[in-house]
Amino acid sequence: MNDQQLLRYSRHIVLDEFDTDGQERLLNSHVLIIGMGGLGSPVASYLASAGIGQLTVCDFDDVDESNLQRQILHRDTRLGMNKALSAKIELEAINGGCRINPVVERLEREALDQLVTSVDAVVDASDNFETRHAINRACFQSRRPLVSGTAINYIGQLAVFDLRDHAEPCYACLVPEDTPSTVDQCSTSGVLAPLTGTIGSMQATEIINFLVFGESRLSGRMLLYDARESQWNAVPVKKRGTCSVCGSI
Ligand SMILES: [Zn+2]
Repeated sequence: MNDQQLLRYSRHIVLDEFDTDGQERLLNSHVLIIGMGGLGSPVASYLASAGIGQLTVCDFDDVDESNLQRQILHRDTRLGMNKALSAKIELEAINGGCRINPVVERLEREALDQLVTSVDAVVDASDNFETRHAINRACFQSRRPLVSGTAINYIGQLAVFDLRDHAEPCYACLVPEDTPSTVDQCSTSGVLAPLTGTIGSMQATEIINFLVFGESRLSGRMLLYDARESQWNAVPVKKRGTCSVCGSI
């Protein structure tokens, strides 16, 4: 690290157990974030400012007026622009030392597998089950840690799947792949703006736990946050022997 980096990241470096080694690990890391919406915005903002060396940010969708209530990476001036490209502009303004690779197309299976293999950890900030399951399969196959979040209505969920270890549960253990897709999307159910910030910030924290400390202590549990009731709950996530992704291992 040079003098400028030592100053920039000094509030990390003085943390117990973090030190310059922890910051070096972040600077040498590459994280994939899928979805540059309500969750992806805070995840990417904090990972960029925290000094992750490289972020690959994916979204095939364009910025819409109705996104701006919560998707804080995007701006009025970028309505109609692809979200990954819009995010790149903002993330480079946050930290010019962070390399941002935008991916503007929908990732099909092989491309997703390839991308997941090339990174250290993956954030699922997508908004549909099909994508979530595709990400889970790719992370399982490539043995990459997966930090998953959702925010709909007043309810947020955060779960961590340490798929480096195939004895750990995966996302499909929690939500089986054949679950009927009763999609509960923001467009129909609404979502409280700062709820996405709460869950997204926690996703960024768990990624840093993996990168700096080698583990997330949330592995095997899911946190549920009810923003209307101001209540947190933790529920265990168990490996299912019949899971279509990890069950046969
Ligand atoms: Zn599973």
